[in-house]
Amino acid sequence: MKKINLNPPPSPCVEVTLSAYADMQAIVAACEIEVGWLAGCEKVGSIYRVTGPVMVPEQDCHGATTEISPEGLVKCYEGMSVDAANRIRCWGHSHVQMSVSPSVQDEETLEQLAGQAGDFFLSIIVNKAGEVYAGVIDWTVGWQFSDVPVRILWPETETDWAAEVAAKVKEKEIYAGSARGFYRGLGLFDNYNR
Ligand SMILES: [Zn+2]
Repeated sequence: MKKINLNPPPSPCVEVTLSAYADMQAIVAACEIEVGWLAGCEKVGSIYRVTGPVMVPEQDCHGATTEISPEGLVKCYEGMSVDAANRIRCWGHSHVQMSVSPSVQDEETLEQLAGQAGDFFLSIIVNKAGEVYAGVIDWTVGWQFSDVPVRILWPETETDWAAEVAAKVKEKEIYAGSARGFYRGLGLFDNYNR
């Protein structure tokens, strides 16, 4: 008998290295039709991290769909180590000027890719306005995640902003003092305090 998992897994997050993010955006910028790409990933706890490399396989694009051909996939994996090939766990594609919400076909493609991978697979959709959508199917937790938050891994900044914020940003205390003072002025807390 199959058991239903009553406890959902921890909320996932998709992280993208800055270089992988730049690659994806440049591919989208370079193409006026729905181009697709693949990228290397790793999973750390509930974080799915797109680390690259990002690659564009040979594909047939027509209007609002893109199909990566089996031959294109084979060419893509050629010359890759087994380890590198196993890390390809992200399928991205452009929606050009349209919204980044996944189509029924997009959901089916992700299901198919995740089925082939056996453990997990990510879908990332980007458009020319810079919007990003991420979805994940992870068989290891038996869950499909939609609209997963995407975080870009920015490089370190020259300024130590943590120190700057700690030095200049103070939390204002307002409640206790002012409210009490106001009610005391009205005599409401006079008995209560004694
Ligand atoms: Zn799509």
